[in-house]
Amino acid sequence: MNQLGIHAQVWVGDWQHADCERALSAAARIGYDFIEVPLLDPQRMDAAFTRAKLDEYGLGATASLGLTAETDVSSEDMETVKRGEALLNQALAAAHDIGVTHLCGVIYSALQKYMRPACERGLENAIGVIERLATRAEDCGIVLGLETVNRYETNVINTAVDTRALIERIGADNLFVHLDSYHMNIEENSMADALAACGSRLGYVHVGESHRGYLGSGSIDFENFFRGLVRCGYDGPIAFESFSSAVVDPKLSSMLGVWRNLWDDSDDLARHALTHMRTQLESARAACGARTHTRSV
Ligand code: MN
Repeated sequence: MNQLGIHAQVWVGDWQHADCERALSAAARIGYDFIEVPLLDPQRMDAAFTRAKLDEYGLGATASLGLTAETDVSSEDMETVKRGEALLNQALAAAHDIGVTHLCGVIYSALQKYMRPACERGLENAIGVIERLATRAEDCGIVLGLETVNRYETNVINTAVDTRALIERIGADNLFVHLDSYHMNIEENSMADALAACGSRLGYVHVGESHRGYLGSGSIDFENFFRGLVRCGYDGPIAFESFSSAVVDPKLSSMLGVWRNLWDDSDDLARHALTHMRTQLESARAACGARTHTRSV
């Protein structure tokens, strides 16, 4: 059964003790199974505190990050690649200390608009880093998700098929495709075809609207998306991701172009998203015959 989670930036733009407490308590109270913790700055993260709070609230956790121009492992500049690998190692250590099962996001390039296509040398650098990271992650029992994002946020992998091909080229067993409906809506020919193309390599899913606000208030066909998830037999984590200028992480918000105020009430947004995802999953399971009914006697 899919675990349902939510990105912490629905509540907080930082991860001081009070931020951690606020996001975890709200996610647990609303009924989420897990929270996705941003690890953009792993050295500033109090992993022991986060882990203790997760236990206190009975909440699971995943972690994600995107690299920057200074830590771009797909760069041709080896100093930049080294900085990126060091940051990823710190993120993995923090993820392990928090006790997460999945480390995801744009961990193979900078999360930014590139002004030229990816080059083979840069790609080889990224592949080397991810290969080594996957080996270390395996030792900690963590799986890595490579998030497929749109053309304005990376030049390395923009479609599910490209991501699957990259993962097969690297070859590690704990590497998975991480898909996000917001990015798929920009790049894929079909939600269902993209999901099916991942097969058993689909390991993490973000649910986001076309404008990254309230689910169902944009232009994404979620019926089609959730049916695609059920049809490909996906039973892994599904996390709601949404951004508004109401909550700002200076690094992430600017990179993602979060200029608009799409919501103010984090709790209301989170409650609505959980209901939406549960309803969509239930409808999709019924539509695809995946639901089993037990008759009481
Ligand atoms: Mn995402």
